[in-house]
Amino acid sequence: MSSTVFDYFTNIRNAFTSIFHGLAVTFSYLFRKPTTIQYPDRIDTPVQQMLPPLFRGILEVDVGLCIGCNLCEKTCPLGCLRTAVVRDPETNQRYITRFDVDISKCMVCGLCSENCPTGAVRHSTEFEASTANMVNLVIRYVKPGERIPVHKPVKGEESPGLPQNEPIARAHKEWDEPPPVDPDQVRGRVRWKNDGAPEEEQSS
Ligand code: SF4
Ligand code: SF4
Repeated sequence: MSSTVFDYFTNIRNAFTSIFHGLAVTFSYLFRKPTTIQYPDRIDTPVQQMLPPLFRGILEVDVGLCIGCNLCEKTCPLGCLRTAVVRDPETNQRYITRFDVDISKCMVCGLCSENCPTGAVRHSTEFEASTANMVNLVIRYVKPGERIPVHKPVKGEESPGLPQNEPIARAHKEWDEPPPVDPDQVRGRVRWKNDGAPEEEQSS
């Protein structure tokens, strides 16, 4: 009988001791330097600037360097890229009329950037892509109606490509921005087919 009563009070004492030990550890963290940091607004250097040069983040495109070879679009296993190149029948000049990157599908495999002959498409160090509008994850590097002449590399000259390991401006929109205009919805402009011939003029 006496041993049962003794065990009873021993168990109560052990319970209080273990609770005290646990809370003592917790309490001690009130006076220690935090090992975590508040992201993203309380660090001196943005995380994007601390990433290694070969980090594969959100794709960035310099359309001014694009020769319109369509290699990136054909290479992408997920169909994230959509480009359109037209030829002006009078001047024979080729123009890029569409360069969309759907970063919601991209698995950052790097196949497109590795195969781009001019370095026009590459991975940036940007990785944040939260958005309230899913369609904002389709980055349109050529505005609706815009025509950008294809890049003509000079023989023997190395392409400058995009700067490596430099912080870039956010290519995609802020998380709560309204969605971009879909070029297919634009009216009052000549829409160009991929083969170079303009489609019918649409009335606004
Ligand atoms: S990184 Fe890969 S998945 Fe993303 S667009 Fe390029 S080829 Fe496609
Ligand atoms: S981004 Fe590069 S691979 Fe893609 S069409 Fe332009 S030059 Fe070709």
